[in-house]
Amino acid sequence: MKGLADKPSYIIELLEGGVTLEDVIDGRICEQALVEKSAFVVGDLGALMRQHVCWQSVVPQLQPYYPVKCNSSPVVIEVLASLGLGFICANKTEVSLVLEHGVPPENIILSGVCKQLAHIKHAAKNNIQHLVCENEAELSKISRLHPSAKLLLQLTTKAHAAETSMAFGFSLKSCRHLLEAAKELGVQVVGVTFHIPSSCQDLQQAYTHALSDARCVFDMGVDLGFNMNILDIGGGFTGSEFQLKQVESAVRPLLDAYFPPLSGVQVLAQPGSFYVASAFSLAVNVIGKKVVARHWDSIAQGVNNEDTEFLYYMNEGVYGPFSCKLLGNSIAAPSVHKHVRCADGVYPSSLWGPSLDQLDQVVERCLLPELSVGDWLCFSNMGVCGLEEFTCLSGSPQLPVYYTVSTCDWYEMQEAGVALDSAMKNFSMVQYSA
Ligand SMILES: *Cc1c(COP(=O)(O)O)cnc(C)c1O
Repeated sequence: MKGLADKPSYIIELLEGGVTLEDVIDGRICEQALVEKSAFVVGDLGALMRQHVCWQSVVPQLQPYYPVKCNSSPVVIEVLASLGLGFICANKTEVSLVLEHGVPPENIILSGVCKQLAHIKHAAKNNIQHLVCENEAELSKISRLHPSAKLLLQLTTKAHAAETSMAFGFSLKSCRHLLEAAKELGVQVVGVTFHIPSSCQDLQQAYTHALSDARCVFDMGVDLGFNMNILDIGGGFTGSEFQLKQVESAVRPLLDAYFPPLSGVQVLAQPGSFYVASAFSLAVNVIGKKVVARHWDSIAQGVNNEDTEFLYYMNEGVYGPFSCKLLGNSIAAPSVHKHVRCADGVYPSSLWGPSLDQLDQVVERCLLPELSVGDWLCFSNMGVCGLEEFTCLSGSPQLPVYYTVSTCDWYEMQEAGVALDSAMKNFSMVQYSA
């Protein structure tokens, strides 16, 4: 039988005393300096725990379901599963991964608005009951291959359509028709899901529309005899506590009005970026440098050499760990790993990947001290560029990922139910030594 036992085990370094993540990055850079100077990733499992604590304190009424596509590192899955999260899986591979980590099938939702037949069959075989659906073609596939499924209908939102420039989900207009079709086919509908991306400018308006539409769908469903009991308000949580509070204050009065606790409706959300973004940092090496003479019209404060701009080439780019840049996300400026001589000031700089391709620009413009070839840059908040995805795009070997956790975070995680001996048997913890 194939199981966790034949998989590589993951080493997690326990940081004791005052050892910080920066110390770990320093240590790895020193090691790398002696060899190939390859890029690497450092993961901080404590960040997952801190985000979980923040989630529970700000939105305790929303059950978190983690979308695996955001970061499918087995370590992330293991920790989040141990913390009791549910999972949103887009395909069979993600379902298998999550099941292998002992997540009960009732805590898994198969998402995706058009699913490959084999993936629907796989869900049926593995008792994954909850599937997302948005159109009739999908409905008839599901009724054939997984007749006992419980459907969440994907409701479209303006904000989501604007972001993807594609109309995802069904509209309120087509709703009755879809519900009647489900009824006719004998497939159960149990709720509604929608997604409002974090790029949305007017959260209040977006959630007001989505939740009142969702209420209409619930009423129609109940009318047709369905037991409507799951509302999924999707993702769109950046990871900041401030933004989570903004969403909470937009959503809470609406939930109180449309889906009060007494209604018995279970309310879920899909925090992906929220959990993982801050947990990973990426260190890359500067492998090339060009100076461009330029005249800036306006002189930004703090730029003391406005005629000079630097182009730096790094050993990873958009065909590697910065792939989310290709999807339109911007990458925040890195910090410089070296003892910066402040007196030299900062220069406008752009950061490029190694491919010499126009698309391979990672950061368009940021202010950095003058760097030399061989210097290191450290990008934080890199948890969402799925670590596995990097590899299939770049075709290069996977970047090493060093997992760490501080003793005090680890203590808190154990209190919360994460345990090495049972759930985390596939992982070994070692003491960090510099
Ligand atoms: C990607 C995704 C999310 C979460 O992404 P965030 O970055 O956390 O907003 C949620 N739901 C679905 C269906 C997704 O595809």
